[in-house]
Amino acid sequence: MNRKEALEIVKEQLNEARYTHTVGVMETAIKLAEKYGEDVKKAELAAIFHDYAKFRPKDEMKEIIIEQNMSKDLLEHHHSLWHAPVGAYLVQKEVGIEDEAVLRAIEYHTYGRPNMTMLEKIVYVADYIEPGRSFPGVEEVRQSAENSLDEALFLCLRNTIVFLIGRKQPIYPMTINTYNSLVQ
Ligand code: GDP
Ligand code: FE
Ligand code: FE
Ligand code: FE
Repeated sequence: MNRKEALEIVKEQLNEARYTHTVGVMETAIKLAEKYGEDVKKAELAAIFHDYAKFRPKDEMKEIIIEQNMSKDLLEHHHSLWHAPVGAYLVQKEVGIEDEAVLRAIEYHTYGRPNMTMLEKIVYVADYIEPGRSFPGVEEVRQSAENSLDEALFLCLRNTIVFLIGRKQPIYPMTINTYNSLVQ
């Protein structure tokens, strides 16, 4: 599957804004892969499909989480987290992507995990800093990604947790675990 084919497949799953975001993540992930010596094609593929399941109905995602024996605590947390692991599953099942490293980068793109691979870090950070993003603090993370992928990743996690606390939102335990793994 080349880039054009992959983008055509994912475009059908997304709205205009989310597709534009996806192209931004793809371009950013490619740059990070070149800078840090990761496989550019894997970064491109994982980025293109990272939000594949973003618009699946909540009920469908819930069913997949239960049927596929995914972490049960997902269902106790906000449904905006579900598209990441469900996306990894659907991209394998519906698109036929079998590359485990790519699938795991999709699975962990929202909450990370301790000991992330470089590919997982790249997709996570690219999702946060792509040119269309305008969170407070994103410019600092962009600067940081020029020098250290780990420092940029830490800032993404820190900002996300601070943002959620500010909104009185619960924090998914894996998000905390990822954060802790980066400060220890
Ligand atoms: P997007 O799919 O490109 O919008 O970005 P992500 O997949 O990274 O995040 C999806 C949503 O999940 C965003 O609104 C995040 O703020 C939110 N999110 C990330 N981590 C957590 C968490 O630990 N708890 C909660 N409640 N939301 C989170
Ligand atoms: Fe996402
Ligand atoms: Fe993200
Ligand atoms: Fe995204």
